[in-house]
Amino acid sequence: MARPPAAAYRGDMPASRQRTVAVVDSAQCDECGLCLPLCVPGAIHLGRRGLTIDAQACTGCEKCVAPCPVGALRMADA
Ligand code: SF4
Ligand code: SF4
Repeated sequence: MARPPAAAYRGDMPASRQRTVAVVDSAQCDECGLCLPLCVPGAIHLGRRGLTIDAQACTGCEKCVAPCPVGALRMADA
């Protein structure tokens, strides 16, 4: 049987295949920079607009979450 187009699965992905990525609470982040070197793919950026995370580049490894001294990072569904 032919498979339906991939687009047909949008919004209907099994929980086990859902991607999680790191997100930052800007109100909590004090821009200490501690998390930047922990992110191997370089998904975390610190610039004039504060800390941002590239959801496309984030692999969901979670290495940045626990070390944040102010608890500004958490994982969320992509
Ligand atoms: S470790 Fe936490 S407080 Fe420091 S820059 Fe990263 S998210 Fe912000
Ligand atoms: S979860 Fe991993 S890949 Fe994503 S921002 Fe944190 S350290 Fe980087």
